[in-house]
Amino acid sequence: MSKSHLGHTARKRFGQNFLHDEYIIDQIVSSINPREGEFLIEIGPGLGALTEPVAESISELTVIELDRDLAQRLRQHPFIQDKLTIIEADALSVDFSALAKPNQLMRVFGNLPYNISTPLMFHLFEHCEHIADMHFMLQYEVVKRLCAGPGDKLYGRLSVMAQYYCETVPVLMVPPTAFKPPPKVESAIIRLIPHKNPPAKVSCINTLQRVVSAAFNQRRKTLRNSLKELIDDNSMLEIGVQPDARAQELSLGEFCSLANKISKVE
Ligand code: SAM
Repeated sequence: MSKSHLGHTARKRFGQNFLHDEYIIDQIVSSINPREGEFLIEIGPGLGALTEPVAESISELTVIELDRDLAQRLRQHPFIQDKLTIIEADALSVDFSALAKPNQLMRVFGNLPYNISTPLMFHLFEHCEHIADMHFMLQYEVVKRLCAGPGDKLYGRLSVMAQYYCETVPVLMVPPTAFKPPPKVESAIIRLIPHKNPPAKVSCINTLQRVVSAAFNQRRKTLRNSLKELIDDNSMLEIGVQPDARAQELSLGEFCSLANKISKVE
């Protein structure tokens, strides 16, 4: 399979797998459902597979593209150049709060470069108060992790942290054939909706991250062992968490109770 698509040779280091399946593109755009007046931001517009149909329904679209050649192509795009605000930058270093408009939440979407999709989502979670929703193409495995709950084999740090910030909704599976060049793995679209009323709150997010990482880094161990540096048996029992339990049995609410208990003691 040629690595060239529409005259551009895909760059592996930028995670470039371009969508070309019209049916899948339609499905994705319908699930985003862009409407005039909304504030949409696309990460990694590439050759415009999603940018063009999204820009059809709105008059302004902000895009963030790291590849200088692709950013330049978009500046010269015959149909949509006037609608685009192009930020030529690494999305990981973009301050999304600085892009926020008063009284208008942003909607973020993109067929993400898989090599940075997890750090990028964590970066966006920090700006959740400015975001109405996010639609991302990710590896199917990552989508399953984001949506997994207690007891599920794929339940882990990513599940707990993502669900702390957002409701996670799987939308659509996408086969490798929908891309040029085709990635080695199955992909899927997920919708992430930041909680307006969070189901659980912590006083210190870093403590939640520490607890969740420590518990899942040694997921076969009981919490008594994996969290022994952070909390003792009695303190766990006081908040109704069994020291003999293992990380994969704990709900988001229980992780938050552990983090809050540790924050109080520290
Ligand atoms: N949206 C296009 C599509 O669906 O065909 C391209 C998707 S391709 C999987 C990922 C896109 O993200 C590429 O255009 C790539 O150059 C861009 N990209 C890679 N790393 C990036 C980063 N750190 N910040 C912004 N864009 C990035």
